[in-house]
Amino acid sequence: MTHQPGTAFHRTSVAYFSMEIGLQSDIPTYSGGLGILAGDTIRAAADMKVPMVAVTLLPRKGYFHQSLDAEGNQIETPESWSVSDRLKPLTPRVAVVIEKREVKIRAWRYDVMGVTGGAVPVIYLDTDMAGNDKQDRELTQYLYGGDSRYRLCQEYVLGVGGVRMLRALGYDAIDRFHMNEGHAAFLVVELLDEEMGRTRARGIKPQHIQAVRNQCVFTTHTPVAAGHDKFGMDMVRKVIGKHKVWEVESRLSHDENTLNMTHLALNFSNYVNGVSKQHGKVSQAMFDSYQIDAITNGVHAATWVAQPFQKLLDRYIPGWRQDNLSLRYGLSIPPQEVWDAHMKCKTKFIDYVAKTQKVKLDPRVFTIGFGRRATAYKRADLILRDLDRLKKIASTAGAFQIIYAGKAHPQDFPGKGLIKKVFEATQELGKKVRMVYLPNYDIDVAKIMIPGVDVWLNTPQLPHEASGTSGMKAALNGVPSLSVLDGWWIEGCVENLTGWAIDGKARKGAKDTSAQDAAALYDKLQNVVLPMFYGDREQYIRIMLMALALNGSFFNTQRMVQEYLLKAYLR
Ligand SMILES: *Cc1c(COP(=O)(O)O)cnc(C)c1O
Repeated sequence: MTHQPGTAFHRTSVAYFSMEIGLQSDIPTYSGGLGILAGDTIRAAADMKVPMVAVTLLPRKGYFHQSLDAEGNQIETPESWSVSDRLKPLTPRVAVVIEKREVKIRAWRYDVMGVTGGAVPVIYLDTDMAGNDKQDRELTQYLYGGDSRYRLCQEYVLGVGGVRMLRALGYDAIDRFHMNEGHAAFLVVELLDEEMGRTRARGIKPQHIQAVRNQCVFTTHTPVAAGHDKFGMDMVRKVIGKHKVWEVESRLSHDENTLNMTHLALNFSNYVNGVSKQHGKVSQAMFDSYQIDAITNGVHAATWVAQPFQKLLDRYIPGWRQDNLSLRYGLSIPPQEVWDAHMKCKTKFIDYVAKTQKVKLDPRVFTIGFGRRATAYKRADLILRDLDRLKKIASTAGAFQIIYAGKAHPQDFPGKGLIKKVFEATQELGKKVRMVYLPNYDIDVAKIMIPGVDVWLNTPQLPHEASGTSGMKAALNGVPSLSVLDGWWIEGCVENLTGWAIDGKARKGAKDTSAQDAAALYDKLQNVVLPMFYGDREQYIRIMLMALALNGSFFNTQRMVQEYLLKAYLR
């Protein structure tokens, strides 16, 4: 097929499916990194006028609102938000069959506007309709709530209901269906049915499988085997019913008893990728009979650059929102102005902490930020392993304070334990190292917190971090990372230039490297980072500039969507 210059993008259209999409705090249909990546992807597609439509669920009670009591116990309450104030209702109705009941689905729309006038509609699927059984109305209430059956039903609504809704809305020329994680993989079942219908075939033939593969793109997001959705085949047959695809799938996956959503997506996609170079390799080793490429994640620059830096960039690099590559010219911004912009962000953040937490932090003191899901592998407690050493570093190398934020999944009890551990350490450290745990980490909190700290700390257990994106948001605001060498940081770290690596030099493949990593973290903080911050501010600001120019210009969703176009959408 030949493309006319300038028209190629318009002929290819992409349907982007994601269980969660995070666009703004008052549309709380996301839990964390995966959803925010989806939102940032859609924003970049809108900026670049990529003809895309996005499909997701409408969890009316969101993920959950987190508050914390005095001991650090997490208290979860439903998010309340007005769907009809934020989203536009659409008229088409479609249905899927679950446990032999017809479940009607309607949809709502939100248009994401790009910086150059492009737009990407986001379609939110909703089963909370009169006429549906009570339990089916509940299917679009909670994100990642309920049991395995609930999740199976949700994913079926997303995948099969989503394709049917797109057709009902008139999207009949979609060239690529992009599954953002395995949650959306049921869409291949509907595409297979479409192919079989087109050829009036009774059984699934190789040509049908090939036709579906030609349309599908799959991005996998976790290097942890337990992170991949699996459902018992008995439950699948009971809930969804018989389908010829189950036999094909068990033959391709060599497993008759479970439906693995990752395998379903792998078997029916002709382009598959992990989300960083390292994660691509790890995924390739996990699924060695498939070909797995890598496209490193990014963040949406115009969304994540704080106001003071937006002003600075507008002055020195006009057009940076349209062309993120030009952020590389950030190298020529006068260092003093970078520092001034940073101090505006820091002061604003410290005021926010004072107002919401009644804790007074000192803007002159080195401030470490740690904001991420509270779950075991992210190791929020790594820096708290030796509190005596921490106090000693503060009294000898220079004072510092640590700000935490992050939600634990309601069923993640070790994750909740981490939050409590931070609270206990906060008491123990007292005034020697001030710590604060901000409740309800969401897009708004992230936007004020990340640019407001002096270094962004990241300490996951290797090799569990597929990519990580908050360090990219930090870089865009001139905040260097101090991070374990995993995920994106393997690519983004130029030691002493864009930030610092924490390399515990543990035996390769060791399961728990916390002792070595903590020691390496303490050493770097004590011998490199703090002495530079307090003793050689000029050098510290140079690193801030490098983080912005080198990493900001690359680790953004504009570059990322361009890679998806080249490797996945336009092939
Ligand atoms: C960016 C972001 C995340 C993802 O951060 P990671 O670095 O991938 O852990 C999670 N939650 C919020 C609110 C964010 O803004």
